Amino acid sequence: MVANLSKGKEMNETLELLDEVISLLEASSAKTRAIQRRLAKKLKAQQKIAERRFKGELAASFDELGKQAEEAFLDNADKYVPDEVVQEAAEDGQLIASIMAKLKVSEFVARELLPKYEAEYLAILKGTYNDVATTLNIGLNLPDPVMRNILAEGGKRVGLLDLEEGTRAKLFDILEEGRSQGLGSDALARLIRDEIPAGPWSSSTIRAEVIARTETKYAQNMSAMESYRNSPAVTGVDLINAGQDPCPICQDIAANGPYSIDTAEGIDLHPNCLCVWSPHLEEF
Ligand SMILES: [Zn+2]
Ligand SMILES: [Zn+2]
Repeated sequence: MVANLSKGKEMNETLELLDEVISLLEASSAKTRAIQRRLAKKLKAQQKIAERRFKGELAASFDELGKQAEEAFLDNADKYVPDEVVQEAAEDGQLIASIMAKLKVSEFVARELLPKYEAEYLAILKGTYNDVATTLNIGLNLPDPVMRNILAEGGKRVGLLDLEEGTRAKLFDILEEGRSQGLGSDALARLIRDEIPAGPWSSSTIRAEVIARTETKYAQNMSAMESYRNSPAVTGVDLINAGQDPCPICQDIAANGPYSIDTAEGIDLHPNCLCVWSPHLEEF
């Protein structure tokens, strides 16, 4: 009887201890979730600011390209005969080749866009490291190889723009439009200045916005993953959905976490996805 009583007491103590462990674990995972959400919020806010800044810079570059394309056309305006419709495609081809030779898009990219990409990628890397360090309350060094890596990535991404091909294709469209409207050289030059900045998009604003969003998001994801890799407390990553009504794909990815950093880097988030990879913290 006495033995049974003490067994019952032991059992109760064990259960109490278990309760305590469970509530500690719950508190710790609630704390982890709170930290994840706080960081996701900070990163989202930072990305929005970077997006707005980069959008303005890109739009300015595209406008500049339009001006230079106008000049390159005016240098070759004698090759443009508006009312001559016979063999227009072949003539336009020659004219466009002359404009492109004068315009030198790849030099424009290296001079005008590459420095902007690199500066933006670097700013996002530093901002992301700072957000991660302050939110997790840890010291975080930003190693030189990581900085070099992000600059190289920015360089690669500017190449993906394919500004050369986009400009050439747009010139064909503009010449066709100009001829069909019977525009003279001066009017066509203005059309080039106004429409080249948009490239394959309907307007240069939309073009700048889409690129700025994609690039700042991409740079931030890459930066965040690098910072997590350098934080011993981080054991993996969770996808934190953005907005009130995330799409089913993003919800699925979020529900199946946490992922290892390598696995997460292999997961392609869809264009315009604003979800954030947040660190999974084992002991906090
Ligand atoms: Zn989605
Ligand atoms: Zn998403």
